[in-house]
Amino acid sequence: MICLSCDSKNIRPRKIKCEGEIKGERVETISEKTVCDDCGESFLTEIQMAEFRRDLADSYRTSHELLTSKQIKEYRNRLGLNQIDFARMIGAGDSSVKRWESNRVQDRVYDTIIRARCDPSYMSDNIVINMEDLATEDEYTGFCKFRLARYIKLLACIVPFASSPLYFFKVLFIMDEKHFRKFGSTISGLRYAALEYGPVPDDYRRINEYIVKHGYASTKGMHNFVINTKFDSTEFTDSENEVIEEVTKLLKEKGEKYCYEKSHESNLYKTASPYGLIKFVK
Ligand SMILES: [Zn+2]
Repeated sequence: MICLSCDSKNIRPRKIKCEGEIKGERVETISEKTVCDDCGESFLTEIQMAEFRRDLADSYRTSHELLTSKQIKEYRNRLGLNQIDFARMIGAGDSSVKRWESNRVQDRVYDTIIRARCDPSYMSDNIVINMEDLATEDEYTGFCKFRLARYIKLLACIVPFASSPLYFFKVLFIMDEKHFRKFGSTISGLRYAALEYGPVPDDYRRINEYIVKHGYASTKGMHNFVINTKFDSTEFTDSENEVIEEVTKLLKEKGEKYCYEKSHESNLYKTASPYGLIKFVK
């Protein structure tokens, strides 16, 4: 092959900054071109052109938080499907996946379907996000809307003295029940299930995974948590702060095991059906 501009044979592939346009947007990539050492001219071979167009599409996808061609291919390979079967599985046209794995940007609706079908953590995250978006005030939530930010603040208050979920959930339940009895609503808005080892938030594993994955908490050893944020009393009402203080004091003085036992003595817990949701009723 020779330089298209000066016929020199001193040409070689080099990765250089390139620019292009996708969906009316200027996009930059670092892509391979063939560069002439003599005249400095650069050009794309047929293969380089295909790769450049895919790079452009991927650059666009990354900046718009869409799956890249590589990610789509990885998901497809994980399911062991060819491009046509994968397209059929998600309800897209037969040739769509082939195009998405090269230079065609997928619609956001297909992007969502692919994540929902191929990434379990995406679904799990959505369940936690929905807990907040679809939060209800009823007898299961104790007439309080669940708010993730407040939940994390509550943990920041409890976890330094009860770092395992086995214990900190019980302390949280005591807070919720106490506030409900005195003031008619819980503090966290969590739904609790009556499990053998006490009242535990419904979907607690997903919530724990979520807060670790998104950096609100870290795990220490097998069972212990560290919360990476500070308790902030301004996010709670006076009555909530009263109960939070009261129960934290109880935890500090009597210890986590005491709170664990205490949560088992709750009538709300004892009258719930095993593995069923606990109703906050007076
Ligand atoms: Zn040249």
